[in-house]
Amino acid sequence: MSNEKPLYTMEKAMEFLKKGNQRRLANIEKSKQNPETGDKYKEFRQRLTEGQNPFAILVCCSDSRFPPEIIFQNREGDLFVVRTAGHVVGSDAAGSIEYAVAHLKSPLIVVMGHDKCGAVTAAVNKAEVHGHIFNVMERIYPAVEMSKNVIGDSIAAAVDQHITNTVEYLKNMEPICKKYYQEGKINIVGARCLIDTYQVQWLI
Ligand SMILES: [Zn+2]
Repeated sequence: MSNEKPLYTMEKAMEFLKKGNQRRLANIEKSKQNPETGDKYKEFRQRLTEGQNPFAILVCCSDSRFPPEIIFQNREGDLFVVRTAGHVVGSDAAGSIEYAVAHLKSPLIVVMGHDKCGAVTAAVNKAEVHGHIFNVMERIYPAVEMSKNVIGDSIAAAVDQHITNTVEYLKNMEPICKKYYQEGKINIVGARCLIDTYQVQWLI
């Protein structure tokens, strides 16, 4: 546990969220009122109320610096996002992914890790963890073990190995993902995103 004083108070945090949402509402209103694009925007919002057809499922790290909608410049309704620390897939994440595969018919799963991942770093360093954080570590340890003989940056090697392991796990995850993958209905790929540029490097 850190004894450092937090940067923000809980009141400030609530205020940021409320103000952020107000800015969003004002932007939506402005877009609707724009004489050139207003009708198209109203149509777009209407489509969103009718349902979702995300073209990709993003399984990625909860790290606040890697928001997939911003990295891929996608609009609302495009990406079905499952984020956990270190993009670990436990039962709740698995169920969310299966829902998007089987019910929303998204044809692509992207497992996106990133450099400087705190979860992977903690697993490499065998950091002492408390509470449910251990469940996250447990799912990263196999990648640490598999990459331990790689020469060079041990964290980068573990990040890549963990992405590969997660892709393989999903390809073999019964009953839904494995079936859809083997029938050629979905593809499952891995990617690494870089913090300094947001460049996405595909590990296929
Ligand atoms: Zn991370």
